[in-house]
Amino acid sequence: MSETTETIFSKIIRREIPVDIVYEDNLALAFKDIHPQAPVHILVIPKKPIPTLADAESQDHALLGHLLLTAKRVAEVAGLENGYRVVINTGNDGGQTVYHLHVHILGGRQLNWPPG
Ligand code: AMP
Repeated sequence: MSETTETIFSKIIRREIPVDIVYEDNLALAFKDIHPQAPVHILVIPKKPIPTLADAESQDHALLGHLLLTAKRVAEVAGLENGYRVVINTGNDGGQTVYHLHVHILGGRQLNWPPG
């Protein structure tokens, strides 16, 4: 398991790094990815600094549900009525680079499957 450490996303939550925020509530923050991989690429993060999905615990079940429902609402507001992809890269083999749990929302074009 990864240790809880300070990440760039902690700084974003504290507004120490500017991002284009599209949604915020007391549990979650959603903002545009700085290196978009699709016409719409938004990240939904919990304010609680859980490093990876593998670090989530049973006590986080409501928070994890909230992140997915937030992703759904953010996708609706972004106009992704043709569909979209929700991705949680987890750990080294999952391609995770920022160790603060985050949900990618990708849409606005036909996405390939499987990913690389
Ligand atoms: P992952 O590779 O799944 O850990 O995703 C991390 C994502 O965070 C990448 O898509 C990055 O482009 C994105 N990212 C990193 N720094 C920033 C930032 N300052 N603002 C917005 N997105 C960022």
